[in-house]
Order: sequence, then structure tokens, then C-alpha cells
Amino acid sequence: MSQESVILVTGGSGLVGKAIEWVITNETGRFGKKDGEKWVFLTSKDGDLRSKAATEAIFEKYKPTHVIHLAALVGGLFKNMKYKLDFLRDNLLINDNVLHTAHAARDYKVKKVVSCLSTCIFPDKTTYPIDETMIHNGPPHDSNFGYAHAKRMIDVQNKAYHDQFGDKYTSVIPTNVFGPHDNFDLEDSHVIPGLMHKCYLAKKNGTPFVVSGTGKPLRQFIYSRDLARLFVWVLREYDEIDPIILSVGEEDEISIKDVADAIVKAVGFEGDYTFDTSRSDGQFKKTASNAKLKSYLSDFQFTPFDVAVKESVDWFIANYSTARTGNV
Ligand code: NAP
Ligand code: GDP
Repeated sequence: MSQESVILVTGGSGLVGKAIEWVITNETGRFGKKDGEKWVFLTSKDGDLRSKAATEAIFEKYKPTHVIHLAALVGGLFKNMKYKLDFLRDNLLINDNVLHTAHAARDYKVKKVVSCLSTCIFPDKTTYPIDETMIHNGPPHDSNFGYAHAKRMIDVQNKAYHDQFGDKYTSVIPTNVFGPHDNFDLEDSHVIPGLMHKCYLAKKNGTPFVVSGTGKPLRQFIYSRDLARLFVWVLREYDEIDPIILSVGEEDEISIKDVADAIVKAVGFEGDYTFDTSRSDGQFKKTASNAKLKSYLSDFQFTPFDVAVKESVDWFIANYSTARTGNV
């Protein structure tokens, strides 16, 4: 990137946005802030990106040269199952407003947009491991219907903007993310922050610790600060329009029971826990290949899962009064 870059991060107050801010602020070298870069981290208070006028006003104010587009209606399995139309419409609107406002800018040039997809948007019926070429090969799992279709359209739009106008809009596909600043709501969150909160309450109040589902589904988890480093690399160095999966290896896929065990250890919970098998397991697995990432960045070091879980639990407990816990 040249001097005087303005990097606008939509969704800058969320799990991933806060991790990028942390990396940019705290690290030097390949992933740290470079001279001549101005980073702007947006929250929904800067404007509702479902509104075209609000989106245009934000772009007009900051005149970005680069955009990392994270803002989205986001939630775990149970929230996705409840609000399919909201996940579809909110995300379609946000994505179209951000991409088209970047494209239509007249008095400044947005050189690159990096948007965020997710491995849960891949076809439900598929072969494994999933790779970047398979996004549109069949319907997504029904639990993610709205979110997945909206996210898939980013990849479609990126290709169309590129093929018709030469715009350099690309996307990344992270697996399940966790870390500081996550949404720790008890019901609407993803599995790791949800179970961290439940386990913390079980230890504090002597209440049961109950894990939803059978504990058997498999997931690959990426620590938000590792993902943040990879986002910075993609922004600066990845030159394709086609997406890239940002994930730990297939050998690092673990079960939900393994997740619960790691959380029990990090929280220091000494009781037993149970599984509520009346609740949904969601997709059994969505094993993704990180071969493309490895072909570009063979030496990237992921934070060990236990270390990342411990850092996240410690952050959650230290910030309990202000974290997104769903407590009013
Ligand atoms: P998050 O913690 O829920 O943060 C969402 C961000 O989007 C917040 O900054 C929020 O602003 C902003 N936002 C939401 N609706 C908005 C609107 N209408 N207008 C303006 N801003 C809005 O989400 P996250 O986990 O960081 O997710 C970031 C990206 O990663 C998303 O695109 C998501 O789809 C993707 N992703 C996440 C995961 C995961 O496991 N978390 C996995 C794969 C991909 P406020 O803070 O002001 O509300
Ligand atoms: P997904 O990977 O998109 O399905 O999203 P989640 O992060 O919500 O993970 C869902 C998996 O974790 C399913 O197998 C759930 O049954 C299981 N799970 C266990 N306990 C919880 C919980 O407290 N919250 C959530 N969201 N999922 C849980």
C-alpha cells in the first residue's frame, strides 16, 4: 500500500474488528501499523450501514482508499435459526451499500475492499475438505439459510464488479472465530463465548453447566488475533478476487465436547457438566482446507487453542461488567 492510505474497517467494534485494532496498535513488523496508514474503526453509532444515505455519508467523511468490511448481523446457531429473514435482508443491504458506495466514489478512489464470508455458507451436502471453489455448489445448511445466501452474494458481487469495472474487491472465509470482545450472550452467541459465560456462572453460582446438543459436532476454530493478522496480510498482499479460507488445518478440527473441556479447564470449573441433547447440533461438520493459505503463508503460526481459550476467558472475566453478556 502506498503512503496516505485510509483504511476503513466496518464493524470495527465487534470481535474481529477489535482484534484487528489490537494487532494494528500492539504489533510491529509484518502485521503492525505502517507509516502513512490511517485506520478508522467504525461502529453502528457512526451510521446504520443498512441505509444507503448513512453509508454514503460515512464514505464521504473518511474518503477511504481501502476497506475491510466486517459489519454484519452475526449470531450463533440458535439466533440464525430464529431470524432467517433478518439475516438475509440486513446482510444483503449492508453488503450492497458498502460495495456499491466504494465503487461509486467519485472524488477519491477505493483501491481495495476485503469482505468477510464464513465457512458456514458452504453447501450442506458436500465432500470434505471444503475448498474455495465450492461455495456455490449447492444449498447451505438450513440453519444458516438467510446468512449464507446473503454472504454468498458478496463473492458474486466481487466477481461482477471486477469483470465489469476492474474493481479489486475480494473476500476471506474464516472458520468459527473467538476471542476478546466476543458476544458472550447466553442464547444468541456462538458456542465458545456462550459456553464460557455459562461455565463462569456455573462456577460462580453453583448452577449446572449444560452444553447444547450432543457435543459430537466438529469445528475448526480460529483465534480472533490470528485472524486479524491474516486480514492485514490479505489487505496488503493477497491479490486475487477469489476468496481465501483462513483456517487452522484439518488436523486441528475438534469436537464441541473438546471445546467444553478446554473451557472448563480455563475457567477452573470443578463440577460436572451435561449435554442437552434436545437442542440442535446444527451442521455436523464443515471441515475446511487451508491449503491455499499455506501455499501463500507456509510459516504462519496459529496460537495454540488452549492458550487462546485461556486468554479469552481471562479477558471475559476481567471485563465482565462491560462485555456483551446480554445482561442489561
Ligand atoms: P460482531 O462481534 O457481532 O460485530 C459485528 C459488527 O458489525 C459490530 O461492530 C457492529 O456494530 C457492526 N454492525 C452490525 N450491524 C450493523 C449495521 N446495521 N450498521 C453498522 N454496523 C453494524 O461480529 P464479528 O464476529 O466480529 O463478525 C465480523 C465478521 O466476521 C462478520 O462479517 C461475520 O459474518 C464474520 N464471521 C464471523 C465469525 C464468528 O465466528 N464470529 C465466523 C466467520 C465469519 P456495533 O458494535 O455498533 O453493534
Ligand atoms: P455454527 O458453527 O455456525 O453451528 O455456530 P455455533 O458457534 O453456534 O456452534 C454451534 C454448535 O455448538 C452446535 O453443535 C451446538 O449444538 C453447539 N453448542 C453447544 N453449546 C452451545 C451454546 O451454548 N451456544 C451455541 N451457539 N452453540 C452451542
